[in-house]
Amino acid sequence: MSSSQNTYLLCNNKTTLSRAVDALKNAPAILIDCEAKINGCIGGTLSLISLGVPSSLLSSRPRIPPFLPVFVVDALAFSKNELRQLYKLLEDASVRKVIFGGRNDSSELHHGQGVSLAGAIDLQIADIISRGMRGEGIEDQMQRIERYVGREELDDPERRACYTRVHRLSCLDRCVKEHGINTDLIPYGPKPSHSTAWLKRPLNHRQVVYAADDILLLDLLYRHFQTRGYILPALVSQSAKFLSIHRRRRPSEHDRYWSHGLLPLEIIDKSSNAQAHVVCAGCKRDLPSDCFPVRTSENSTTDIRVDKCFVCCGLAHISHQCHLRNPYADPEPSQNAEDHNNSDDESADDLARDFDELSFIEWEYPDWYDLYDPATDDSEYEY
Ligand SMILES: [Zn+2]
Repeated sequence: MSSSQNTYLLCNNKTTLSRAVDALKNAPAILIDCEAKINGCIGGTLSLISLGVPSSLLSSRPRIPPFLPVFVVDALAFSKNELRQLYKLLEDASVRKVIFGGRNDSSELHHGQGVSLAGAIDLQIADIISRGMRGEGIEDQMQRIERYVGREELDDPERRACYTRVHRLSCLDRCVKEHGINTDLIPYGPKPSHSTAWLKRPLNHRQVVYAADDILLLDLLYRHFQTRGYILPALVSQSAKFLSIHRRRRPSEHDRYWSHGLLPLEIIDKSSNAQAHVVCAGCKRDLPSDCFPVRTSENSTTDIRVDKCFVCCGLAHISHQCHLRNPYADPEPSQNAEDHNNSDDESADDLARDFDELSFIEWEYPDWYDLYDPATDDSEYEY
């Protein structure tokens, strides 16, 4: 089955790349997600950039305008120079980009492609902001963390107090579920399992579907967050801090202080500028001194500042194996690396589901697409 019959367009030649750029440069915002080998970390190589235009990806059946595919750009099919026309859009701060958990994507684009992503909002941050707007308080925040770092850690009042500035991050799938978003319109059914062979060519259908799938979820989530008022003006600067966290250097994929599901400090909270800064012995970030716990020594009355920030202190209580497998999942109670085979949110059955079960037949690429110009379309459509 050719890709033209599906909801994505694989862009691996100049014609399809130009089609993508033409659609994206007229878009009110660009949804973006990357697939790479060791994404954003030491040894990383970019494979695919998936891009979409909000509210143009899904429609009722049969499809009606304005419909656009997810543009899946094969980064290995082009030189960096050939991709410049696309990268200019990603670097243009006046063009909004929408991403989810984009720290590593931003790192890969920066270190691997020389692209400084600008004008991006990260919905993983907006999700955390939305928790307060949805009525969650400090106890809910602690419950989310407790499932991650363990009950024992939060039973001690002194240790519990260390987590008041720490927030648990969600993965995209969990976030979409938590917000009660109906994903029935996504044509692919169960999400195919993640491939690690991102640098192999030719790409198989399953890999491209996987790459496109997150853009469809991102589209639904963005629309939901806009409707609910979760996209606040401060999100732009908060996202810029979050997305540039690896700007100086790529992290190691094996570094437990970077592969985890907790929000780094000083992204949505901010200490006063007057404080001295200290380099955290875990994440190596230069942070204000009030980002570090202070403990009283048993033998003296002197307070001692712990050498790791609140986030890195919490990570000491989680199995490193668990981080590497899925940074956002709840660790298993056994904390035994041998037992982590089924710890992901997605069940093993989902991951093992045969790709042949996925249905594409009813989602055909419309004939009129070649003639369709989204910039001039003002039709009303329902979802
Ligand atoms: Zn730290």
